[in-house]
Parts: sequence; C-alpha cells; structure tokens
Amino acid sequence: MNKTQNILIIGAGLCGSLLALRMAQRGFQVTLVEKRPDLRKVTQDAGRSINLALSNRGLRGLRLAGVEDAAKKLCIPMNGRMIHDKVGNTFLSPYSGRKDEYINSISRPGLNMLLLDEAEKMPNVKIIFNHACEEVDLENASATFKDFNSKNETTISADVIFGTDGAGSAVRKSMYESHKFLFSFSQQWLSHGYKELEIPAFPENETNAETGYRTYKNALHIWPRGEDMLIALPNLDGSFTVTLFLPYENSEYCFENLTSPEMVHEYFNKEFPDVVEMIPNLSEEFFTNPIGPLGTVKCSPWNAFGKVLLLGDAAHAIVPFYGQGMNASFEDVAVFDEILEKYSSEKTINWNNLFKEYEALRKKDTDAIADLAVDNFHEMKEHTAMEIFQRKRKLETA
Ligand code: FAD
Repeated sequence: MNKTQNILIIGAGLCGSLLALRMAQRGFQVTLVEKRPDLRKVTQDAGRSINLALSNRGLRGLRLAGVEDAAKKLCIPMNGRMIHDKVGNTFLSPYSGRKDEYINSISRPGLNMLLLDEAEKMPNVKIIFNHACEEVDLENASATFKDFNSKNETTISADVIFGTDGAGSAVRKSMYESHKFLFSFSQQWLSHGYKELEIPAFPENETNAETGYRTYKNALHIWPRGEDMLIALPNLDGSFTVTLFLPYENSEYCFENLTSPEMVHEYFNKEFPDVVEMIPNLSEEFFTNPIGPLGTVKCSPWNAFGKVLLLGDAAHAIVPFYGQGMNASFEDVAVFDEILEKYSSEKTINWNNLFKEYEALRKKDTDAIADLAVDNFHEMKEHTAMEIFQRKRKLETA
C-alpha cells in the first residue's frame, strides 16, 4: 500500500479527530482542517450538548486507536435510568441485572481535546483551525477554505478527502450540488427543539454536599412528561448537564410561549418541581442558552468518484434519543478501518471500491439507528411516563 498518500479530513469534531489519529497510525500523511478555533485554547460555548452517552460501540473505535483507557478516565458510569415523577419521586430502572453493564457519561469537549492531543502527537498529522470549507472539487480532490484569520481563500489538494464536518456538512453540499451523479438526500426535523441547562455542583461548604452531586450521580436522569421531557447526565465536576426537549409551538408549554422568567418558573414548578431547586439560575440560563434543532439526515452515495467520502453526522445525522450519534460515528471509523485493512496488501489502494464496500456494509445499520432513534423519542417522553405510573400502582397494591 502506498502510505505516502495525502489524506485531507474536513471537520475536527469527534469523528474527524479520531479518523485523523487512526489514519496517521496507519502511516498516511494527514491534514485535518476545522472551521472553529482550537477548542483547547478558547472558552466553550454554553448550552451546546456538553456531555454525551458513550457506549460499547463508541468505545470500539477509541480502543482501535489506543485511547480507550484515556477516554475512560473522563467517564462516569450510568447504571440505569432514574425516572422522576411530577412530585419528585424517583425510580431507578437498571439497564441490566449485571453490575458491569452500564453506559458512560463523557464530556464532549474533554473527549474532543483528548483526540486532538493524540492526533497532534503524530508527526504525520497537521491540524489547521479557523478554516471553513466552502466547496469541494470532487473529481480532483481539492477543497476551498475561508481562512478566518487572513480572510483569504485557500485551496488544499489531497489524494482523498474525508468529509467529517457534521450534520450541516459543506462537503455533502458539494455532492448535492454536483449534478454529475445521482445524489439522494433527505432531512427531517422533529417538531421539538432542545435547550441545555446546568444543575451545578454543591458548593464545597454546603453541609449536605456529601458527594458534591445534587441528585444521584450514576444514572441517566429522565423527567418524562408526555409531549416534553427533561434529561440530565452527570459531569466529573459534580454538575449535571440538563437537556429540555420541548415543542417549538402549538402546545400549552412550548418555546414560543415561554417568553418571560415567570412563565419559565411556572412551567418548571408544575412539571419538574424537584429540578427548580437544583438550578439556581434557571430563567437566566433558559434565556441565554440557544434552542437547538433535532433532525435526521440520510443521503446516498456517501462517496464521490472514489475521491471523497462522508463519515459521521455528515453522512447520517440522527436525533439523540438513543444516545448513538457519536457512537455510530466512532463505529464508522472502526468499520472503515477494518475494510481498509483488507486493501492494505494492494500496492495502490482502489479507494472507489473501498468506499463502495464501506457504504454497502454500513448504510443499512446507520439507517436503522436513525429510525430507532426517532421511535425512542416517543418511547422516552411517553412510555417512560407510563412506566412510572405502572410502578406506582404496583407499589400501592403491594
Ligand atoms: P460533529 O461533532 O458535529 O463535528 C463536526 C466538526 O466539523 C465540528 O468541529 C465543526 O466545527 C466542523 N465543521 C463544520 N462545518 C465545517 C466546515 N465547513 N469546514 C470545516 N469544519 C467544519 N451522540 C451520542 O453518541 N451520545 C449522546 O448522548 C448524544 N447526545 C446528543 C445530544 C444532543 C442534544 C445532540 C444534538 C447530539 C447528541 N449526540 C449524541 C450526537 C453527537 O453529538 C453527534 O453524532 C456527533 O457529534 C457526530 O460527530 P461528528 O464528528 O460527525 O460531527
């Protein structure tokens, strides 16, 4: 295999930074280009999916690149779902009867920084920040970037390009607009958006700050309320990242109607009374943090001319209700790497065949998790509420 080939990876998020590391470990010359500033050097935006559920699928990709143990140091095990009813009762529903079966809560920036650090240690990786891809010349494997520092445009050419630039992918847009091959694309939005809030850690001097956490640490917390839902995942510093899923409109409680601090407090007092006391700056955070949309992107083919391949959310963005978007993106890297291994004995890699084989193997799985994730949205907000009701009845009749 000709390992001196130049690989251009566009998007240094979770998928792109893991792919860069793995391709460098295989000996390729890797250039990784990211639109945003280096997240290790700037303050993070508040309210943007700060922590994520990391499962075995995702760990498989991290293991392959030798960073599983380092990632696990950033993890908090969650043994089950803790369901909160409207009067503050809680029920722990374990994921499994076995103690060693759990999912992990992990910091998104923490994990991304780890992957960037590891990629940067490789002598054959160059990382460029503050460059936004504007267009890709698919047939010639070159991409044009806007340099946010100089405001100039630059072009980077490579032997092959990987588009890991997320749900709003510019690489995918170039494929959509190419008209030189049939490209199918669909994007479906949910009627709900999400907003992140924070349950802070107990201050150190508080007498009841036994664990530092204001509610049970080792669980994924859910407040299911039929049309709307709140979830919370623990962070290592004693805080929880809370995500509110709420309709945009056409409901008594929806983003459109919650326009004043009084309304926000009224809503939380009615639906999530135990949360109100845990979020001291509730209305301030509510009005500062952005509302994020929730959508599913499907497209095909993922490959153009054997020169460009989409991976991660750029190929298959999904709604977060199975907590599998990042996991699927890491699994992409693992599956891709397995197929690449098969082609390693060839003197020159036939990227076109490799890309096609990868998509044929992978697309049915990513389509399946996309549909399951939408189903689980309804399950979580409606049926977990039913679970509370049934368990309460059992307790009452016991
Ligand atoms: P991204 O993480 O979006 O990274 C894309 C990168 O490309 C970014 O760094 C971006 O700045 C960069 N970029 C974008 N455009 C350009 C451009 N034009 N030029 C150069 N760079 C560009 N998944 C889980 O597995 N578990 C969870 O618990 C979970 N929870 C979630 C909760 C919420 C609320 C949301 C919205 C998502 C959640 N996900 C979860 C999904 C997960 O966030 C994504 O699947 C994952 O981030 C995909 O990784 P990626 O690298 O493909 O894309």
